[in-house]
Amino acid sequence: MRIPKIVILGAGYGGLITAVRLQKQLGVNEAEVVLVNKNDYHYETTWLHEASAGTLHHDRVRYDITSVIDRHKVDFVQGTVMEINKEEKKVVLENGEINYDYLVVALGGEPETFGIKGLKEFAFGITNVNSSRQLREHIEYQFATYNIEEEKKDERLTIVVGGAGFTGIEFLGELGNRIPELCQEYDVDFNKVRVICVEAAPTVLPGFDPELVDYAVAVLEQKGVEFMIGTAIKECTPEGIIVSKGENETMEIKAETVVWAAGIRGNSVIEKSGFEAMRGRVKVQPDLRVPGFEDVFIIGDCSLVINEEINRPYPPTAQIAIQQGEVVAKNLTALVRGKAELENFVPDIKGTVCSLGEDDAIGVVYGKKLTGGKASIMKKVIDNRSLYLVGGAGLVLKKGKFNIL
Ligand code: FAD
Repeated sequence: MRIPKIVILGAGYGGLITAVRLQKQLGVNEAEVVLVNKNDYHYETTWLHEASAGTLHHDRVRYDITSVIDRHKVDFVQGTVMEINKEEKKVVLENGEINYDYLVVALGGEPETFGIKGLKEFAFGITNVNSSRQLREHIEYQFATYNIEEEKKDERLTIVVGGAGFTGIEFLGELGNRIPELCQEYDVDFNKVRVICVEAAPTVLPGFDPELVDYAVAVLEQKGVEFMIGTAIKECTPEGIIVSKGENETMEIKAETVVWAAGIRGNSVIEKSGFEAMRGRVKVQPDLRVPGFEDVFIIGDCSLVINEEINRPYPPTAQIAIQQGEVVAKNLTALVRGKAELENFVPDIKGTVCSLGEDDAIGVVYGKKLTGGKASIMKKVIDNRSLYLVGGAGLVLKKGKFNIL
């Protein structure tokens, strides 16, 4: 008898948890499980701001996928997904095709530039290991070049961060630690450096507790960050950005480094494959399947789940992607075993912690507000927990963060 084939696309938070849970829950003869990912490594997306600023080596944020999967139970295929053919139950890769009986789409997100001119071409993103590496090296190159040029260009030392959401603020926190080091390494006067955060919304970290937001702004300002709140980026150019100033006025800020950290959308494969989506995110059923396609589950940043209390989508987070992966693994196990009853996904939001650099953070955990060292320790505990869920104590010992005292 042919056993069902489960194909998981993406080995990020959602996809990898699905794979390691399935390898525990299913016997070898119950299903064939295939995990597909662009790279042969998984990276901790939630640590990329550190690799981007240069406060953590990029190899610390990634590990080999084959080191955490059981090759007897899960086949790993390194490949780039181009499209999903739902009607023929087939995934088209850059160099090949894979058929499936059940599919889990966990391909993560992509930057959303809202059509702002020049952002795609001239701004850096914090999206994967290679983009983070490129950004870190670009910033370092600016500092290294500044002092050896005859005509000193101050824009080399100006860094604009578009977006004061989670990613933008965490990156600014790391820059706060890294810039004094760069100044010392390359004999650059700290007072010449400008780090500007431009945010269109009327506040930093929209939706976060106002007292904690004030704390974060004060910490970052102390580290030298300038905030331009309620200010929209109109255009990004090779020379910097143009922002709107008042109704009809604009202003140019010259900067060699512009980082776009203000928006996320689902993977473009979703729309290419003809799924009905809002900014690349598919509104999934409570059991995480796609309406009309009972054999396709979508999780993580490609999925959209409504928070009924406020009638708005939950923001895409690793926390949600991991919990969805756990539910999908249970539901696939049930389907393989011929059970019709599936579990509904109910997010269990334990809290949110936003780091402000090496030893400072803000957060709300189990309803309790935290700041400073305590919040920073909690952030590291959360980071280590995601390693533990995938690879147990061994992976925590290998990759974990222990500089908590
Ligand atoms: P991902 O973890 O992004 O994984 C997607 C995987 O798919 C990757 O391995 C990728 O290589 C692969 N892939 C992509 N395209 C293809 C393709 N075409 N073919 C094959 N493989 C492909 N969330 C929190 O909960 N807490 C935080 O503190 C937090 N901090 C963050 C900080 C930063 C700097 C960033 C950028 C995000 C942060 N987030 C945080 C959000 C969180 O990282 C995402 O919501 C989460 O990674 C989504 O998980 P996922 O499984 O959907 O995708």
